Amino acid sequence: MLQLVEPEQLRGALLAWFDRCRRDLPWRRTRDPYGILVAEIMLQQTRSEVVATRYRGFLERFPDVDALAEAPVESVEAAWSGLGYYRRARNLHRTARILAERGALPASAAEWAELPGVGAYTSALLASRCCGESSPVLDGNVERVLSRFLAATQAPRRAAARRNLLATAARLLDPGRPGDSNQALMEVGSLVCRRGRPDCGACPLAPGCRAFHSPRLDPRAFPVAGPRRAREVRHCFTAVVRQGEDLLLHRRPGDADWLAGRWHLPTVELASGDESTRAAEALGREFGGCWECDEPAALVRHAVTYRDFLVRAAIARWRPERRPEESTGDRVPAEGSALAWFGREEIEGLPTSSLLRKTLDSVGVNCADPPIHSGP
Ligand code: SF4
Repeated sequence: MLQLVEPEQLRGALLAWFDRCRRDLPWRRTRDPYGILVAEIMLQQTRSEVVATRYRGFLERFPDVDALAEAPVESVEAAWSGLGYYRRARNLHRTARILAERGALPASAAEWAELPGVGAYTSALLASRCCGESSPVLDGNVERVLSRFLAATQAPRRAAARRNLLATAARLLDPGRPGDSNQALMEVGSLVCRRGRPDCGACPLAPGCRAFHSPRLDPRAFPVAGPRRAREVRHCFTAVVRQGEDLLLHRRPGDADWLAGRWHLPTVELASGDESTRAAEALGREFGGCWECDEPAALVRHAVTYRDFLVRAAIARWRPERRPEESTGDRVPAEGSALAWFGREEIEGLPTSSLLRKTLDSVGVNCADPPIHSGP
């Protein structure tokens, strides 16, 4: 039986390593809970190198909770441009309004978790950094580090394995610096205990690491893989409608299960790869007006987590429904249709998605015309 150093005895070494080796990231220099909140929401689904390019600009534009709460949501989305997953921007904006109204910040992980877009991981991290609460966190990096540390035989997604990893993370937390302990574990995962190349010789956790000390184990074999979730296939049809230089776009509902709140080409879901006439009817039911679609030029594949969207895209024409007395031409979409025309510069400032660019490419509408800024 291996005699290894207990996690509690590694707290000091972990923090000393963090103080010596951590990357100098802008959100690590602040103790302001608002600045930490903004960073953690940005970091939820975006790499730290990308967040670093947007973080300061966002805080200059919205320097505190009140400034963010008072801003229109469209300007918050515009400042979020480049980070993708715009639902986070809208949730952050709602959070700012709640906090501004309360006039106080949450005092625990449980209170942080009540705010929009703040899940178990983010609430624990915010509580450890902003409230001094010893709340351990598990992100992908920490899961990998601790699965190796324990030589865990179960996939980290399983409830029992997860409880075990969280208990070990808690044992590694220094009660005097819980926020730094959490960040230190994540940093070990980023810099030392890397996916394919763990550098065990430089690791502050090595004296307690089972995978490192067991001669028959290879740390790279951890975490063990869980069963793969079956992929879901969804068939869609997208209409590319142009009027001169302008493009017809649709603002997707904020509660849509993909591209939520994003401006995108008018798109309908179909039971299967139906032909253009069916698609035109479906577009009419969804958006109103009269639609005429060419045969799809191409099939675009777009993967979102476990879903594969198979999008047939076609050049199309659209005439809005109008009462006879209205004679404003076809420029103005029907009221309530959530459709709007945009020129190239206007599209640049909208929350869109990489699928917009891919779809335009597929039908031969040049990406440079219009230039579109897009997230993932
Ligand atoms: S000793 Fe090696 S395998 Fe263990 S946690 Fe450190 S880097 Fe990962």
